[in-house]
Amino acid sequence: MRITAGGVGKPEMARIRVRVEGVVQGVGFRPFVYGVASRLGLAGFVGNDGRGVVIEAEGEAAALDCLVDALSTQAPPLARVERVTVEPAAVTGLAGFTISASDSSGSRTVLVAPDTATCVDCLTEMADPGDRRHAYAFTNCTNCGPRYTIVRELPYDRPGTTMAAFVLCEPCEREYRDPLDRRFHAQPVCCPDCGPRLRLVSADSALMAGDPVSGAAGLLAEGAIVAIKGLGGYHLAVAASNEEAVSNLRSRKHREERPLALMVPDIEAARRLCVIDDVEEALLLDIARPIVLLERRSDAGIAASVAPGQRGLGVMLPYSPLHYLLATAHPDPLVMTSGNLSSEPIAYRDDDALNRLAGIADAFLIHDRAIHTRVDDSVLRASRGGPLPIRRSRGFAPAPLTLPWEFPRHVLACGPELKNTFCLARGRHAFVSHHIGDLENHETLQSFTEGIEHFRRLFSVAPEVVVHDLHPEYLSTKYALECDAELLGVQHHHAHIASCLADNEVADPVIGVAFDGLGMGTDGTLWGGEFLVADLAGFTRAAHLAPVAMPGAARAVREPWRMAAAYLDAVFGLQWPDAPTLKAFRARHETRLDQVLSMARAGLNSPLTSSAGRLFDAVAALAGVRDTVSYEGQAAIEFEQLADRSEPGRYGARIESSSGLVHGSDLVAAALADLDAGVAVPVVAARFHNGLAAVVVEVCERLRRDTGLAAVALSGGVFQNVLLVERCVAGLEAAGFRVLTHRRVPPNDGGISLGQAAVCGARDRLSC
Ligand SMILES: [Zn+2]
Ligand SMILES: [Zn+2]
Repeated sequence: MRITAGGVGKPEMARIRVRVEGVVQGVGFRPFVYGVASRLGLAGFVGNDGRGVVIEAEGEAAALDCLVDALSTQAPPLARVERVTVEPAAVTGLAGFTISASDSSGSRTVLVAPDTATCVDCLTEMADPGDRRHAYAFTNCTNCGPRYTIVRELPYDRPGTTMAAFVLCEPCEREYRDPLDRRFHAQPVCCPDCGPRLRLVSADSALMAGDPVSGAAGLLAEGAIVAIKGLGGYHLAVAASNEEAVSNLRSRKHREERPLALMVPDIEAARRLCVIDDVEEALLLDIARPIVLLERRSDAGIAASVAPGQRGLGVMLPYSPLHYLLATAHPDPLVMTSGNLSSEPIAYRDDDALNRLAGIADAFLIHDRAIHTRVDDSVLRASRGGPLPIRRSRGFAPAPLTLPWEFPRHVLACGPELKNTFCLARGRHAFVSHHIGDLENHETLQSFTEGIEHFRRLFSVAPEVVVHDLHPEYLSTKYALECDAELLGVQHHHAHIASCLADNEVADPVIGVAFDGLGMGTDGTLWGGEFLVADLAGFTRAAHLAPVAMPGAARAVREPWRMAAAYLDAVFGLQWPDAPTLKAFRARHETRLDQVLSMARAGLNSPLTSSAGRLFDAVAALAGVRDTVSYEGQAAIEFEQLADRSEPGRYGARIESSSGLVHGSDLVAAALADLDAGVAVPVVAARFHNGLAAVVVEVCERLRRDTGLAAVALSGGVFQNVLLVERCVAGLEAAGFRVLTHRRVPPNDGGISLGQAAVCGARDRLSC
């Protein structure tokens, strides 16, 4: 926040013109200013325009100072004040302070707030039988409720939202017009008389009699699957303790083995399922209400098929009034997973949801407030005393990341293929989109292209340069290539490191460790175990994992045992020793092993990769954790979860100083020797993690000797692995490095678009 002071401080009467920028519309800022100004006896007005809030205030200098001070120190809970600019104005002598209507003229640089959880005041009203909003599922106020998901256009006023269809009743209108009311200019304000209504309908769309919430709770208690319309889309809910109901949901949804998220009524209920520390509690209670990945208690009493193979559970607390009502009627934990078939985006339009989910849900708890933008739940883990974002979406998007540097030109960064987000940037703001998903079907591609158009309008960005990944087959790359603008290709792992730098507001060069699944390298091979010497504008590939074949290309991602075979080939060549682990491995893959090995050796459909994710796959498969996976990274995730955290031992790997090659196959050979010696898999998993972390530290120390750089940025999807992060951070800090990890955007591909935009901005600044 910056205060640029003009002519404040004159004695006697003065008038100032104040501009407030940031998230200041739709968050109760004008009534707040009205209240402060009235208390201070100031005259003037406060209003919205396309850039934020404008205030003119007239009175004694000391009172004016108090007003300016209060703007940043006492702002309402959802406001984010980024800049206050004060200039002197001519004294008018007019009395009284007023709130003026919105002005949609001028350029639009105002910021739309993310959706936020129901506030305590609204919950109190909902619980009060005497209140006119008692048990009303759409209660909200200036301090809470839907925002981004209902915004059609700016300025943020009721006609620009999906609440435009609901005409305010007289009491609501009074609250909306009263500057001292908590609902003054709360755009989604409504009540049971004038607002949206709930309905419970059967799978064939027939209206079900009775109270919709208690009806839905009754169905859930009986084991039914209920589709529930939330803030950003539909959830599918079942009772989490009912094994039959949960496996039913899994099979109808075709959601193989991905863990399902849970919703519990409150923090105490969450504690009955999981071990929760202070940081995790704060994340659960954050007004964004993300899903937080937590360690499951052994007595959690949750159906096994909620999160097969997982030590953890993804848990969130209620965030909409409807969730609170449902949690009261059904206090036991609910599975709340996104309402889609696997791989499709979450359903958010009613007709579409009723269509697509009809084969899954037994009933639908729906309402008539439209969702304009589909936004999935956000997912976080705790790491290093703060959040480690896994998916940044509802509750966070579209709040911009404010960076300490200007973007000289308007930028559109198209992001990657999987876990796509895009990013628009201008000024010092990077607007990273909500989670779009994997760009592999028509629906997701459509939300990508529509999302870009919506963001361009909302944030007045007219891209002069469009950034894309180097992978020519990514649909996001193809989209970029068809844009009528200057193009910039940014290497995938450079984008990861730039994303981590932007996340941490660091512009200095660093040693960047980018470990992920796969990304196109500048040499046309697939990278993913990279040590870069990088800053925002450029990089050199200083070291990397020695490449191995991926026999069967994409099939090797779905079948980690193929990576184990390729690594064993790198270790032993044609002469595999007669060891028990190898015998077992051979026996499991007897029919295809020789074929896969000859394919790898001949280089047939076996691209080379230096991917760290594939190295994890290889060791996990060899340890018998998983030969095939139903989602990318599954083997590595399960391998991390079963590691024995108390094991201090570690494997080693050769590092070639001339070529910078790191022999990951040494880690595989060491794991194999341990497995043959009968060492338990959790110990092997721990020694592998510790060994890889030690390799990271050693390579970074060598690069520090060469370059003098003493800061390390860790990015890429492999660094969602908290055990690896902890071990790398501990080792690097002990060696005297400053370590940067992600806080605001995910280390996985969800953060790529920010990195792409940051690279573009840095290059533009160099050429200015
Ligand atoms: Zn509220
Ligand atoms: Zn009303």
